[in-house]
Amino acid sequence: MKVPFLDLSLQHKALREPALAALAATYDATRFCLGKDVEDFEKNFAVTLGYPHVLGMNSGTAPLHVACMLAGFGPGDEIITAPFTFISSAWGINYVGATPVFADIEAGTFNLDPAKLAAAITPRTKGIIIVHLFGQPARMEEIMAIAKRHNLFVIEDCAQAVGAKYEGIPVGVIGDVGTFSFYPTKNLGGCGEGGAFVSHRPELHTRARHIRVHGSDRRYYHDIIGGNFRMDGFQGALLNVKLPHLARWTERRQAIAAKYLLGIKHADVRLPEQPGYGRSVFHQFTIRHPRRDALREHLAQHEIGTDLIYPVPLHLQKCYANLGYGPGSFPVAELAASTCVSLPIFPELTDAQVDHVIASVNSF
Ligand SMILES: *Cc1c(COP(=O)(O)O)cnc(C)c1O
Repeated sequence: MKVPFLDLSLQHKALREPALAALAATYDATRFCLGKDVEDFEKNFAVTLGYPHVLGMNSGTAPLHVACMLAGFGPGDEIITAPFTFISSAWGINYVGATPVFADIEAGTFNLDPAKLAAAITPRTKGIIIVHLFGQPARMEEIMAIAKRHNLFVIEDCAQAVGAKYEGIPVGVIGDVGTFSFYPTKNLGGCGEGGAFVSHRPELHTRARHIRVHGSDRRYYHDIIGGNFRMDGFQGALLNVKLPHLARWTERRQAIAAKYLLGIKHADVRLPEQPGYGRSVFHQFTIRHPRRDALREHLAQHEIGTDLIYPVPLHLQKCYANLGYGPGSFPVAELAASTCVSLPIFPELTDAQVDHVIASVNSF
């Protein structure tokens, strides 16, 4: 039985008619940049997921960049983030001329370890970028307490955690700013590039809205430095069609994860930890095995697609060689990178496919 790592075509085939009708309406109305589709999406996203207000942007990297501009980070400032994430979590720090500083993750959840975070703080530390990796909320209570003590600006990278809650609070409005990505492979994916900005602080929301359109509130008057971070109309149109299905898709991801957690019984496999403070929305289901490559090969022989997310931690990427880290700097992140393997988890997987994955892992 074939089990692809991810197959986006199933979801898009099922929604083809309403999706193409929505895209056609946007096309006919030439609502290409921002406009009604994006405004509707911002309202729908806010109401559905519990945010005070939302700004659609043109990628998940964009709101991270905007957040670093809003925070006033700059040269000489140190911003702490996790070394085990997608590189984009850190880019915004570089875009404003500040310095990324890494702190190690916890082994169980793959998220930033609050004790390591506290130990990485120096007098130059100005902020933290928290990543809710693989859909699992990070330990926000401990992290926010540290941030408060040191007066740090907190950005939550929720690119993989749309719909996730920490102790009942939606991720993204616990820190100062939250950011989302609607890249097609994310839990809520567009038909191109897309992202969103949220903040519970109205003044940050207003400034982000101006930054998004070239630092402007009135056309051709630029009160602050901005850029082009606008969401396009087609993304708003498709995301409006998809959003009503998100809760059901998330439940299906969680049901598949529950099957994996119960069914995978293998002495050498370490399953992702399920802390009580916030349930994962399972963007990924990532396990660890000391002979990860051999396990992948075994699964491939059983026609099961897997992926390595992420094979190289950020502090060992060439682009960050100048930061002075090396092998051994963050042992937990390095162990995760060398032993993790992500299993198929998308809503359209059948129970039979999930059972096949479980049996194949257990037979390794
Ligand atoms: C996908 C992702 C991003 C960036 O999103 P883009 O839409 O690709 O720019 C940022 N952070 C994390 C953790 C991601 O997974």
